Amino acid sequence: MYNKLIFEISKPGRIGYSLPKTEVPSFDLPNELSREEELLMPEVSELDVIRHFTNLSKKNYGVDQGFYPLGSCTMKYNPKINEEVARNANFASIHPLQPPTTVQGALEVYATLSDYLSELTGMSAFTFNGFAGAHGELIGLMIMKEYHMKRNDTKRTKIIVPLSAHGTNPASSALVDFEIIGIKTNEKGLVDLDELKSVMSDEVAGMMLTNPNTLGLFETDILEISKVVHEYGGLMYYDGANLNALLGLVRPQDMGFDIIHLNLHKTFSTPHGGGGPGAGPVGVNADLVDFLPNPQVRKVNGQFELFYNPQSIGSVSGFYGNFLVVLRAFAYLLTLGKENVAQVAKYAVLNANYIKEKLKGHYKLPIDDNFMHEVVFDGLISEKATTLDVAKRLLDYGYHPPTIYFPLLFHQSLMIEPTEVESKETLDAFIEAMIKIAEEAETDVELLKTAPHHTVVRRLDEVTAARNPILKYRDTLND
Ligand SMILES: *Cc1c(COP(=O)(O)O)cnc(C)c1O
Repeated sequence: MYNKLIFEISKPGRIGYSLPKTEVPSFDLPNELSREEELLMPEVSELDVIRHFTNLSKKNYGVDQGFYPLGSCTMKYNPKINEEVARNANFASIHPLQPPTTVQGALEVYATLSDYLSELTGMSAFTFNGFAGAHGELIGLMIMKEYHMKRNDTKRTKIIVPLSAHGTNPASSALVDFEIIGIKTNEKGLVDLDELKSVMSDEVAGMMLTNPNTLGLFETDILEISKVVHEYGGLMYYDGANLNALLGLVRPQDMGFDIIHLNLHKTFSTPHGGGGPGAGPVGVNADLVDFLPNPQVRKVNGQFELFYNPQSIGSVSGFYGNFLVVLRAFAYLLTLGKENVAQVAKYAVLNANYIKEKLKGHYKLPIDDNFMHEVVFDGLISEKATTLDVAKRLLDYGYHPPTIYFPLLFHQSLMIEPTEVESKETLDAFIEAMIKIAEEAETDVELLKTAPHHTVVRRLDEVTAARNPILKYRDTLND
């Protein structure tokens, strides 16, 4: 019963609401405005609706239910005070087209958060026009391009992106028509300086880099890397998705970055499962501020206003920003306070390294170094089962699996990001489950190969699901 669609439990004539008697005469819509077919709506009681959606919500898995060590995604607990602030009607009910004089508080939040982020990162100013990390990348690369164009330096058509980078990096580069030079990672999991030097030229617009990188390793040569790129006239772009590991301790500007994006929904806590919502503010150095997209927020004679800078790359989004995500980040920083911000990074790093040490006797550690906020294994040491089998079996133990098969550097990548919010007890329980699974692989490998066993749906045929997805309700009913 609880696995049915709400349309399948529908009974003609059953209703879950009542409306007051109308006090005005009824009126027939003109023909051209009315629909030709009946509107397909489920007919159910209030109890049916409540049970249906409550049961559906229980099939989901979220950070509020349990450990969610999805690497690269920073699935950390989002303090409920952020939600309370974001739901306050004084914030939630304002409209993006209201005159700026009536939304001074909202504009002040943008301006103040821009100052805080500037202090944390060393950048000069931020735009909140980016609605996600990937969107921030696009904006940042448009700024990079504009910077070269404005100097009539039109031969810069190439961008350097490590092959280990997140897929959005090459995708954003392609969108602004940069030719991508992929560079390999050395045996330490870091950018190979010699290879970088060998591909540099005056045709390179810049380099995109994540630090710590997608292996969770700090690029120790970062100052040298920035120096090389700058010497050739290129700009350094910082993918800030991993800022969690450095927050309050290291500033991207000091590492030599000129343009950065942050993922507010990751580092600065907004629930972001299922693809949204997000915010990818972009910060730039002083000589790039004029290129930030329009509109920009500024304070003139004690009043905040939106203004349009003629030097700007133009408009890149419908409205100024994803305000309620920005507000959550603001609330998050205020609750932490300046003196506690660095604790985020310290615990994120401690937790990842704790897991690394406890699991490295059972899972292959291709690079045994000090990791930052996440650790990457290359599958089981025994090789008795694949990383996919391990991930599926973890579902039986009640955990959301780590990121699997990313980064692409290893064949059986298993990328674990515990985040700073988890207790030692939680980490120990997860470690115990991971070790048990490694032991099961030796004693009863079928248990892994056929997992999961205790979930609503069992092992899916992922190839068919990807090639012939059934995405429409109607299709499901007809089959
Ligand atoms: C998440 C992530 C991105 C993309 O950010 P979105 O907000 O999902 O668009 C880019 N780079 C890295 C390293 C990431 O982890």
